[in-house]
Amino acid sequence: MSENKDQKFVYDFTEGNRDLKDLLGGKGANLAEMTNLGLPVPPGFTITTEACKVYLASGEAPAALRDEVSAHLAALEAKMGKKLGQSDDPLLVSVRSGAKFSMPGMMDTVLNIGLSDESVAGLASQAGNERFAWDSYRRLIQMFGKTVLDVDGELFEEALDEAKAAKKVAVDTDLDAADLKKLVTRFKKIVAKQAGREFPQDAREQLDLAVEAVFNSWNTDRAKLYRRQERIPSDLGTAVNICSMVFGNLGPDSGTGVAFTRDPASGHAGVYGDYLQNAQGEDVVAGIRNTVPLADLETIDKASYDQLMTIMTTLETHYKDLCDIEFTIERGQLWMLQTRVGKRTAGAAFRIATQLVDQGLIDEAEALQRVNGAQLAQLMFPRFDEGASTELLGRGIAASPGAAVGKAVFDSYTAVKWSRSGEKVILIRRETNPDDLDGMIAAEGILTSRGGKTSHAAVVARGMGKTCVCGAEDLEVDTKRRRMTVGGKVIEEGDVVSIDGSTGKVYLGEVPVVPSPVVEYFEGRMHAGADDADELVQAVHRIMAYADRVRRLRVRANADNAEDALRARRFGAQGIGLCRTEHMFLGERRELVEHLILADTDKERDEALSALLPLQKKDFVELFEAMDGLPVTVRLLDPPLHEFLPDITELSVRVALAEARKDANENDLRLLQAVHKLHEQNPMLGLRGVRLGLVIPGLFAMQVRAIAEAAAERKNAKGDPRAEIMVPLVGTVQELEIVREEADAVIAEVEAATGTSLKLSIGTMIELPRAALTAGQIAEAAQFFSFGTNDLTQTVWGFSRDDVEASFFTAYLEKGIFGVSPFETIDKDGVGALVRSAAQAGRETRPDLKLGVCGEHGGDPESVHFFHEVGLDYVSCSPFRIPVARLEAGRAAAESKGSDSR
Ligand code: PEP
Ligand code: MG
Repeated sequence: MSENKDQKFVYDFTEGNRDLKDLLGGKGANLAEMTNLGLPVPPGFTITTEACKVYLASGEAPAALRDEVSAHLAALEAKMGKKLGQSDDPLLVSVRSGAKFSMPGMMDTVLNIGLSDESVAGLASQAGNERFAWDSYRRLIQMFGKTVLDVDGELFEEALDEAKAAKKVAVDTDLDAADLKKLVTRFKKIVAKQAGREFPQDAREQLDLAVEAVFNSWNTDRAKLYRRQERIPSDLGTAVNICSMVFGNLGPDSGTGVAFTRDPASGHAGVYGDYLQNAQGEDVVAGIRNTVPLADLETIDKASYDQLMTIMTTLETHYKDLCDIEFTIERGQLWMLQTRVGKRTAGAAFRIATQLVDQGLIDEAEALQRVNGAQLAQLMFPRFDEGASTELLGRGIAASPGAAVGKAVFDSYTAVKWSRSGEKVILIRRETNPDDLDGMIAAEGILTSRGGKTSHAAVVARGMGKTCVCGAEDLEVDTKRRRMTVGGKVIEEGDVVSIDGSTGKVYLGEVPVVPSPVVEYFEGRMHAGADDADELVQAVHRIMAYADRVRRLRVRANADNAEDALRARRFGAQGIGLCRTEHMFLGERRELVEHLILADTDKERDEALSALLPLQKKDFVELFEAMDGLPVTVRLLDPPLHEFLPDITELSVRVALAEARKDANENDLRLLQAVHKLHEQNPMLGLRGVRLGLVIPGLFAMQVRAIAEAAAERKNAKGDPRAEIMVPLVGTVQELEIVREEADAVIAEVEAATGTSLKLSIGTMIELPRAALTAGQIAEAAQFFSFGTNDLTQTVWGFSRDDVEASFFTAYLEKGIFGVSPFETIDKDGVGALVRSAAQAGRETRPDLKLGVCGEHGGDPESVHFFHEVGLDYVSCSPFRIPVARLEAGRAAAESKGSDSR
């Protein structure tokens, strides 16, 4: 990262705005925006993410930074009428991290910079409050020691606990000035001993070290883990906000709080937040003392409350979205410390989007950008069965919805360990902190006994879409003894508990689950217009209607039986994009397939094929009926034949044992021979797909005949079958030409015999690099392409799709080689580039070539956007992912329309 001479590394809050998130981070950009809106923001300035990038790349802050900070600090001092650390009346500042994307609790903050042994007395006399000054000073040493000088934070906590115990008081507010003064001496000794240096008395040195610590906090393990989890790029860096301090700990007429402009769990308008009197910033989020609901502020300080309500309305109208805020009241004066578009539950996202449309704040296209497929998928999870007999253990705050069942664990280490060995766990803590992140990721759900809707556990769980119940105060969590007690009942580590993040209820044992109302709606068992349809279903219905109206991509299903096809249709599928016929060769039909494989003569083989024909035909009739009037792409047999034969080891043992007993079965012997003959070292690269069709005479012809006869039968029954025949694993046009010729002849025969005109189209999968590279030639023989991105990913990367995810993907993900498995989200630069060029080449040869995708990526939100962009006609995915694909196809279209008109 090189420095540009004219680059500006520091922006005053009056200079920025909310669009500068890349440069000023989310917090800095929004502080600037609020300042420009005329809201009461304490003055300050922001050091840019560019400065952080220089520091991270070179290990040193940019050369120009020091002078720029000095100039902005001087301006701030002039505005405030006092100097940083001035002994008789110190200006104090906070130093807060703030990246482009919110990373709650992941990076560092230091408050009260500017206090020293000298200026603490100045602060005391200015504030007329000695206790406050010493409390502020001990907080500075504690935060500075922990985050800047790497001192174990527990040591400060222990010293604080001892001070409280010595005085026989329960909360820190009961410690007086003299106690806090002693604590400061103790804290300074802890720093000197642990950090090997004295706590710095020079205010500017404190500031510079704190800024550096914030830069460094970008790369802590927990920040890296969070970024990986949330897919936040690792090279963005953080900005640093330096803000004049305002104090919530000046007495009962002061305090600090967090609030949402509407309920982040339901979307309902109202007063949602927590307030803590006589406290400073971090106390609320950390859930250290119990907060009161924000509504109580109305009685505590009506004027500030009214002003806050007005500001919240201003913010919601300005941002046109739910905002969350942090504020402080200093002796009756309200200050805004932060705002941002707030995280919300999946259900609230849908409801808020439609509420904002109704309020006229946003339009339908914007509403689509306010929700996403991952949220919709979450809403399709089952819920607990309310009718089930359950043992209610207690109730907390419904912080992040979902129904989670698992074994109780009381620390993150165990959560990770047990989940790695396949156990489902619920992480139970008194409260969580950023060190619990990996445990939270590993757990099915999170349960805490303390903290509100804005506690760390709640905020992080909502961000991850993980079930969370917090502040369940009846539970006494004893992490040391790895258990919790509720009304005399003891729940030990390993006992199963169920938590409901939508109601806040905590149950003992496993509670059965029922389908979500959103699935009931998609299934057609609940109607959005019905009186009893809940708000969520209505919101989902409206958003899906917007998506369907604007999307260009059609959505089909991967389904190979009538039941799945019917469900897919209810879920909005516009056809079947992949019917895998191999599933029709299993079960009781396996024996017929064995006959086919073992056939020695043409006659035997024809008999085996003739036995399979009516069965296949019946399958297709059912499928075409279920999808009447819609396209059904039937893929000819793909997997290697040995998959239909017994396991080689099992069969060898059986034959060996039988031979030892001298009663070897002739059929088993022939089977074993065939298994040996068909055995391949790399079956995925072996005799499968079109290759099978070319070496087993009659196999594909039988399948084509079954399809054609089924279509003719449906036609004669006045149906509207729209079959498409798809050839798998083609690498060169010659393969396709041979299969086509045979298929065309069979179809003509069936048409003649049944007196119908079937209009069957024949196309191919594009799932090998060679096929993609020669797509222009292949399109000569194909009426459609369907990209098989599973095999294409496997062959482009040279990754075995059956093995690599379990063997080394974890290491690859940890090393950041990719942020997500390429089998899950399309690798745009590699596999995606082939899809793009093949689509283009195919269309050059045949302008009306139909293009689709039927690999797993067809139902993946990010990949759907890519397929929209490269101009495919449809995506095909499993029935349950269809609503997600419809929504994302709508979002992609709305997004590209937006960018076209810009
Ligand atoms: C593919 O390869 O993407 C595909 C859809 O086919 P299959 O998964 O059956 O190999
Ligand atoms: Mg394939």
